[in-house]
Order: sequence, then C-alpha cells, then structure tokens
Amino acid sequence: MTNYLVVGSGLFGSTFAYEAAKRGNHVKVIEKRDHIAGNIYTKEIDGIQVHQYGAHIFHTSNKEIWEYINQFAEFNRYTNSPVANYKGEIYNLPFNMNTFNKLWGVATPAEAAAKIAEQRQVLGDKTPENLEEQAISLIGTDIYQKLIKGYTEKQWGQKATELPAFIIRRLPVRLTYDNNYFNDTYQGIPIGGYTQIIEKMLASDLIDVETGVDFFDKKQAYIDQYDKVIFTGMIDQFFDYQLGELEYRSLRFETEEMAVDNYQGNAVVNYTDAETPYTRVIEHKHFEFGKGDKNKTIVTKEYPANWSRGDEPYYPINNDKNNRLYKAYRDLASTEPKVVFGGRLGQYRYYDMHQVIHAALQVVKDELQ
Ligand code: FAD
Ligand code: UDP
Repeated sequence: MTNYLVVGSGLFGSTFAYEAAKRGNHVKVIEKRDHIAGNIYTKEIDGIQVHQYGAHIFHTSNKEIWEYINQFAEFNRYTNSPVANYKGEIYNLPFNMNTFNKLWGVATPAEAAAKIAEQRQVLGDKTPENLEEQAISLIGTDIYQKLIKGYTEKQWGQKATELPAFIIRRLPVRLTYDNNYFNDTYQGIPIGGYTQIIEKMLASDLIDVETGVDFFDKKQAYIDQYDKVIFTGMIDQFFDYQLGELEYRSLRFETEEMAVDNYQGNAVVNYTDAETPYTRVIEHKHFEFGKGDKNKTIVTKEYPANWSRGDEPYYPINNDKNNRLYKAYRDLASTEPKVVFGGRLGQYRYYDMHQVIHAALQVVKDELQ
C-alpha cells in the first residue's frame, strides 16, 4: 500500500486517485480552489448545468476511454455545432459545405475545392509554418479573414503568424454538409453535469479530499510526508520558475441570467471579428436540449486575457520557445523521483478531456501495475 498525495482535483488527478484507491492505496487530494473538478466543474443553477470554466463537450474515438467515462455518468447525444458570428453574418462551423455555400454561393464539393485551391495560391509552394499559413492552406483567404484571424488573435493575444500551425488543425475542414465540430466516433455531455463524475471518482473511503489548500504553502513538507506525489499544477511553478516562465493564456468568464427562454438559439456562438472583446457566448441550457425554466436562460461570455502569476492558466501556449522550456523543466522533473507531473498544466499540453484520461491511465499503468 502506497500513500499518495494528488495535487489538483481536476480530471487527471481524480482519475489517478480513483484508480489508486481501487487498488487499495491511500490517497490524499488537495485542491486550491474551493471546489473539486478543476476546469470541468459544472454547477446547477435554476435546473441548468452551468459550465463554470467554459463549454465542455466530451468527444473521443477511443472506445475504452468512452466506456471508462460512461462508468461515472450517462451521456446525452449532444453534438457540438457552433456557429460563427462575423459582424452579424452567421456561418456554420467547422468549415464545411454550409460555410462555403454561405460565403461563396458554391453548391458542390468540386466548386468549393476549386475556390479553396484558387485562394491557397497566395502561398505558392510554401509549406505552412505558422497558424496563418496553415489556415490559408486549408481553407483559403476569405475564411481566414472572416472566421479565423480575428478570433485567433484575440484568443491567443498574438499574431496568427507567430502561432503554431497545429492549433488550427484541431478544426475539421469538410467538403460535406456536416456541422459536427468533431470528427470523433463518440460525443456527448453528461446528464446532470461533470461535477458528479469527479464526485464519484473521489468517493472511496481511501480518498481524503481537502479543498482550499495550496500545495506551495507546504511544498517540502508534503513531499516528505507522502510516498509519492501526483502533481497536476504548473510545472514551472513547481520549480519556482527557476528556468524561466512558461507562457499561458487566461480567460475571464462573465455569466448572466436573462429573463428569456432562448437567447441565441445555440449552445455556442463564436464572435470571430477582432473588435468584439469576447470569443464565445455560451447558452448553457442548449447543452441539454432546452432543459430548465422556460422564462430564464443562463449565458456566459468568454473573454481571453493575458496571464501573469496568480491568474488561472487555462491554456498552455505550445509554441517552439515554450516547448523547449517545458522540455528543460521535464529534464529537471526527472531529478524528482517522488513526483509525477500530469495533466494540462503538469505536462504543459493542450489536452482535451479524453486525452487527459488517457494520460492519467498511462501513469496508472506505470505506477500501479
Ligand atoms: P485542471 O482541470 O486544470 O485541474 C488542475 C487542478 O489543479 C485545478 O483544479 C487547480 O485548481 C489545481 N491546482 C493547481 N495548482 C495547485 C496547487 N498548487 N495546489 C492545489 N491545487 C492546485 N476539453 C474537451 O475535451 N472538450 C471541450 O469542449 C473542452 N473545452 C474547454 C474549454 C475551455 C475554456 C478550457 C480552458 C478547456 C477546455 N477543455 C475541453 C480542456 C479540459 O478542460 C482539460 O483537458 C481538462 O479539464 C484538464 O484536466 P486537468 O486535471 O489536467 O487540469
Ligand atoms: N478558431 C478560429 N475560429 C473559430 C473557432 C476556432 O479561428 O471560430 C481557431 C482558434 O485559433 C482556436 C483554434 O481554432 O484557438 C482551436 O479552436 P477550438 O474550438 O478547438 O478551441 P478551444 O475550445 O480549445 O478553445
């Protein structure tokens, strides 16, 4: 039996805690926020599950991961199909025949492909090296200008020419009339919200959870006290930023209740112009097919924000410079045999939920089997 300390009660830490306790180990979980579940925390307000840290849609093509998460909740059949609002013009996302038809009037895949090929010519033979070039190479200059440039530059606070190409490859480009944002086989939202998943993961008698506790208040004492530490906070902070600061992007959420049944007709509307200060507007009841009071709705605007120490580090910025620095921290981490670094912050990776579970189960294999 091992005594584990898990720092952070997000999906990574909680998956590990659940698996460790299932194998008879003691786990102490400390969480600096006043609630469990990290960024997947949802809270019921007026019968609506409010995604407190931005819209979370579970999606994966890995059957094992899908079955794994389904142990903890029943999922609905929600399919993410956000729309983009560019200065009042509405376009379907991801980039598909509906988008191309609205923008260019084209009706067939061949016409759309020809239009994209024509616009891509501004790049010549160049292999895309940054997000701007990658976007133009995938869908041409018009969509880049209306649906990508403004959104991307406010989301990341950097020029699209300075951002890594992989970020835009998260989005499918399709020559079909299919508005599903994800290509994955499985997708949905847990009925009753995400917090119950983490509650169930942490329910064992062998797990002791304490919220409102910051690991850095007693770092060395914690490391000395436990056999092993699973750390899901920021890796650079763990090492007191001794090699320099990794960069993160933060967010500010503004939530309001409105006395209408249906404010925007969709769960997610992206504002893709540069001037609107927020990127997304979420209307939570649409994740659950309009469930909740007919006279009310809850809407959250998501504002991107600069990160500085003390702010919530929602997104790692995985450009070459930061990835090199992260690698140096990872080398340093190998000198800490009692500590395993995991999750979006511990591994400094733009992980989605299914990837976090996958990574946590990998650590379970290495540690516990
Ligand atoms: P976190 O959830 O960040 O958990 C880490 C926990 O550690 C936090 O609770 C933190 O408070 C705690 N902690 C940190 N430092 C300390 C410390 N020093 N002491 C104690 N506790 C500490 N993924 C999807 O699959 N689909 C989506 O639709 C999706 N949408 C997203 C939208 C937004 C706006 C964001 C930001 C992310 C989204 N994600 C989505 C990604 C998803 O949130 C992450 O993959 C997942 O939540 C990461 O889990 P984690 O445990 O690694 O990190
Ligand atoms: N993106 C965009 N326009 C959109 C939606 C996304 O340009 O309407 C770009 C933007 O650079 C964003 C990236 O695609 O950061 C990935 O989008 P995703 O929806 O996956 O972002 P996340 O939900 O992780 O914030």
